[in-house]
Parts: sequence; C-alpha cells; structure tokens
Amino acid sequence: MPATFCTLASGSSGNCHVLSDGNQQLLIDAGLSGKQIQSRLQKAGMQPENLSGILVSHEHSDHIKGAGILSRRFQLPIYANEKTWIAMEEKIGPVKPEHRKIFDSQKAFAIGDISVTPYRLSHDAADPVGFALEGHQFKICLATDLGHVPESLYEVACNSDLLVMESNHDVDMLNVGSYPYYLKRRVLSDQGHLSNESAGQAVVEMIRRNVKSILLAHLSRENNFPELAYSTVTGIMAEKGMKAGKDVNLSLSTREEISCLYAY
Ligand SMILES: [Zn+2]
Ligand SMILES: [Zn+2]
Repeated sequence: MPATFCTLASGSSGNCHVLSDGNQQLLIDAGLSGKQIQSRLQKAGMQPENLSGILVSHEHSDHIKGAGILSRRFQLPIYANEKTWIAMEEKIGPVKPEHRKIFDSQKAFAIGDISVTPYRLSHDAADPVGFALEGHQFKICLATDLGHVPESLYEVACNSDLLVMESNHDVDMLNVGSYPYYLKRRVLSDQGHLSNESAGQAVVEMIRRNVKSILLAHLSRENNFPELAYSTVTGIMAEKGMKAGKDVNLSLSTREEISCLYAY
C-alpha cells in the first residue's frame, strides 16, 4: 500500500489534512464540520471508518471544529499538547479519557509506524505547533499559522517530500482591505500569519534544503488571490534562478476543493 497525503481544506474557514501509511489513517487538524470532513475524505478515496486518530496543531476553531464530533463518532484518539488541550477542551465537547492523548511539543513520538515531530510556532494560540510526519517511504512537514518562520523549521523540514507552507496574505491587499485595524495588526504581527512574500523567501530556503514538493496553504479569502500567492512565490524563486516544475513541484491548496493526492 502506498502512503498517501491529501489536504482536504485549507484557509481561515477550515484546515484539515489526511495522511495514510496503509495502516494508520491520521487527520492533521479537523477544522471543518464532521460531516464535511467525512464527505471530503470520501472524495479523496478514503473511508472515515478507517480513521485512526486526530493530531491537533492548536486550538483555533479553523483547526478543531470537527475534532470532538469525529472522536465521539469513530472512537478516535486526539493528540494535542497540554496547553492546547486546556484551551480546546470546552470547545470540542466531551472526549473519552482514553482518547485524550497528550504529547510534549519538544519531543518526537510515534503513532503506529508514523513518527511525529512537533515543533513550536509563533502564533497567537496557547502552544501552537507544526509537525513533521515520517514513515518508511515519506516525510511530510506542515507549516501553517505562523507569524514568522522559526529557525527550527529549516531543520525539521529538510529533505521533506512535501511541505505544506502557509502563504496567507498579500501585505498590500491586507493594508488597504476591509479588516479592522486590530485584525490587520494581528495578522501582520510575529504571532499572526505568513505573507506571500515571507512564504516565497521560505520556499527558496526549503528548495536549498532539498524539499521536493511544496503546497501553498492557509490562503486568506479577503487578503489574497491564489494567482497572486503563486506569482509572488515564483517571482521570489525566479530572483534566485529557481523554477516551479524544475526545482520544486509547487501547488496551491484551497478552501473549497481537496488537493491532489500525494502518493509515496
Ligand atoms: Zn488557522
Ligand atoms: Zn490559528
């Protein structure tokens, strides 16, 4: 069985990814309704009954909306660090004690044969993390909801087959857009979200570290366009003589549609 990965949704209205290594079928974040996640899983050719757990990056509702429901419906363990558990507990409703799995943000752990390496992110949540997920034939790294790129990401993501990289907003669109002042400041801050430009700079560094595919993610509906995110990132790559399709396989994820299925 090949390992497969698919982003079921990404953006401020909901984030959810699924990784299967043939034995374990893990959701990484569950920020859509349970029903939507089930139907998107089926679109990706996967069965919700085969899920084996949910990994949670942080407690914002666009990452946990369906976590409690799916845990209760399919008897799924939820993996989160302690501070995230405290912050999300009330929002997701009752979870059986045996399904409450607490990880340490500074320690790698295993779910079946999948090794999970969390790393800390700068974002306005209790203890937000990104993940590197490794199996026998793949390494996938997730980096969304970050105000700036932490040094640790370069190490963690090195040699990944796939990096899911935030490209949240265009700074000019955000500045002239309709967001209230406090929200603009929040998004732009070091604890907010990553701009297209910062994403582009990170992508260049990641290509130098042998990352093979990059999926741009968590695009803002108000302050970005997919074409703009893509052209900003490829523009910054071009300044360094790098090309999508040649140096890296570069794609975009959306709120409405599931991504392509990555198989390893
Ligand atoms: Zn988010
Ligand atoms: Zn967030």
